[in-house]
Amino acid sequence: MNDQTAYRADLRIEVGAIRHNVAVLADRARRSGARTMAVVKSDGYGHGALTVARAALESGAEWLGVASVTEALHLRRAGIEAPLLCWLYSHGEDLTPAVAAGVDVSASTVADLRRIEEAASSLGRPARVHLKIDTGLNRSGCPPEQWPDLVESAAKAQADGAVEVLAVWSHLACADEPGHPSVDMQADRFRRAYEQARQAGLRPMRHLANSAAVLTRPDLHFDLVRPGIAVYGLDPVPQAGDHGLRPAMTFRSSVVLTKRIAAGEGVSYGHSWRAEQPVTVALVPVGYADGVPRTLSGRFSVWLAGKRRPVVGRVCMDQLVVLCDDDAVAEGDEVVLFGPGDRSEPTAAEWADTLGTIHYEIVTGMYRPRVSRTVVETEAES
Ligand SMILES: *Cc1c(COP(=O)(O)O)cnc(C)c1O
Repeated sequence: MNDQTAYRADLRIEVGAIRHNVAVLADRARRSGARTMAVVKSDGYGHGALTVARAALESGAEWLGVASVTEALHLRRAGIEAPLLCWLYSHGEDLTPAVAAGVDVSASTVADLRRIEEAASSLGRPARVHLKIDTGLNRSGCPPEQWPDLVESAAKAQADGAVEVLAVWSHLACADEPGHPSVDMQADRFRRAYEQARQAGLRPMRHLANSAAVLTRPDLHFDLVRPGIAVYGLDPVPQAGDHGLRPAMTFRSSVVLTKRIAAGEGVSYGHSWRAEQPVTVALVPVGYADGVPRTLSGRFSVWLAGKRRPVVGRVCMDQLVVLCDDDAVAEGDEVVLFGPGDRSEPTAAEWADTLGTIHYEIVTGMYRPRVSRTVVETEAES
């Protein structure tokens, strides 16, 4: 990259957008008396966990959440000292490193709790625990019939000084479908589980809300909210109105070659597209190995030289071809594959709609070995 603008395949991460989104979410939480945990699992949904963690903590989030112990330790080693919860372990995983690093750990079973207690006693310090009740997602979490056992055991472990029970928590299945009856059903089960924890003598916080619930269910904010996708500016409930979020990721490349091709010529493998008249095409050096799904072939466009232009023929491993008609497009010109949408460029949400998936899957899959990530404060600095 000798020329600053001529990226091969780059994810521009606009930190100002992340700060803005976290401020929006933390403000909503604060209005209902809740604090904010920014979820930065899966390398900050592909945006860079450390970058996002720092920006989030500067913008109103007081907690961080990740899935694995490895992710949590990565943040601790980089100097992040904020409260940090991790919630998913492999079978029998040793939780000593997490407890030693002051990472909060989730317990869904009495067996989890025992492992946490063992880690705590080997370290001579209490472990910070969040008890997870399964309220109907039927993934992780304690089944309601085992919950009384779990809270009794946790209360005893707390009395023994082995653990500090900080929270009771759960996760929603259908919060992105406002009005779905499961949301209230899960909330009812959650309140019941909390009451049982109190009856066992615990005085925990409660947290339930993901991004969709932060945006649409202030009554379910409880003490702490756990937004993920909205931190990155992607709205999980666009049908519920404009929430003023700003997408933080722009995927861009630049033209490496332009050429004229004659009428009747086929483009790319299989000649799935043919020129009907003489046209200019532009070669862009990104392909499916760089996160452009091959199944988008013939179904998407990019922003190039002032407007959207269709990608023609198949997306290859390393390259794709853009139809430029008779326009003057130059080698080195910026190509935006998706971005916030300001310049009418495609968005990650649009890719997701075309592909029949969700924008979560698009952004978390973008950072790959040949793709660079450039962190800028604002869009203007590109
Ligand atoms: C990923 C995740 C979140 C964040 O969900 P979003 O829909 O991205 O806001 C919250 N809590 C848990 C347990 C998660 O796994």
